[in-house]
Amino acid sequence: MSTIRACSRPLRPGSFASSTFRTSTSIQRSGPRKYGTAAASNVVNIVEVGPRDGLQNEKGVIPVSVKSELINRLVDAGALLVEAGSFVSPKWVPQMAGTGEVLQGIRQKPGVHFPVLVPNQKGLENLLELLSTHSNSPVPLTDEIAIFAAASDAFTKANLNLATIAESLARLEPVARAALDKGLRVRGYVSVVVHCPFSGKVDPKVVKDVTAALRNMGCYEVSLGDTVGRARPHEVAEVLEEVKKVVPVNMLAGHFHDTFGTAVANVMTALSHGIRTIDASVGGLGGCPYSPGATGNVATEDVLYALKDSEYSVAGGVNGTIDLDKMVNIGWWISEQLGRESISRAGRGVKARREREKKQ
Ligand SMILES: [Zn+2]
Repeated sequence: MSTIRACSRPLRPGSFASSTFRTSTSIQRSGPRKYGTAAASNVVNIVEVGPRDGLQNEKGVIPVSVKSELINRLVDAGALLVEAGSFVSPKWVPQMAGTGEVLQGIRQKPGVHFPVLVPNQKGLENLLELLSTHSNSPVPLTDEIAIFAAASDAFTKANLNLATIAESLARLEPVARAALDKGLRVRGYVSVVVHCPFSGKVDPKVVKDVTAALRNMGCYEVSLGDTVGRARPHEVAEVLEEVKKVVPVNMLAGHFHDTFGTAVANVMTALSHGIRTIDASVGGLGGCPYSPGATGNVATEDVLYALKDSEYSVAGGVNGTIDLDKMVNIGWWISEQLGRESISRAGRGVKARREREKKQ
């Protein structure tokens, strides 16, 4: 997840303490997600990351018009928060080329957000330029960006070509501040919160510090990512309990890849530890370029299926939720665009059931 493969010049080390990553200013302008009944709510928010985290890590490159169509279909299925793309150089990530055009092809809907990943100042400048050319539109093309850091120096080095976590945070702080000044919401990601493909097991205390730093930059929510998909439920629990010591749980989200088949179990663990926002990817799109064999995010269909008729309800725009059957159709459709089958287990199960019923 959250990879940009961008080459960037290292910045001078900022004013960070060596053991923690305190930002020089503490910006708290956008509060956490609001729930009807605060922490007691069992309403789960799903952040659909297929069009960005998913497609970015697929081998196939999808045309701009199909990407817009994917997002429109996801909104029609009830998705309320869809990550629409990334403002990163297409030289480094060809899959994300044309994110500006993708945004312009989206049918805007009140209450639906389309965050875009902005890895650096240049990306933010490109986004702000696009927004200024559409400043007369009644609804902005987007009102939210996502920024990301990693919980290991080795992953930071491979992904951002910066030597340390502290350097990457120093570079993100002005990006977050500028976005907040323009009235944008800022969401944070922390990659490799359990295992790093280069340096192994990650210390939960480091995850805690990076998460706190992103929160202090003004992120309304920080998504904790098992980028390589190796985490097990007890490891997820350990990280969450550590991070919760300093960041309220309603400002956290869970982001689990499914390489070792534990993503749905990790989602359920995160929910039982108070997390109410889960990142998921339709059709299980995605992978991780730094971790051979890594699969995509937990499939949206699999999360919807696991939570159906449970103590939890999923927030969405179709009868108050996200429609599982429509999501299954989208998962198959976009997988076919990539020349393969859907890898969502629920998606495959629903399709098999439909075919069986047709024969009867
Ligand atoms: Zn991811």
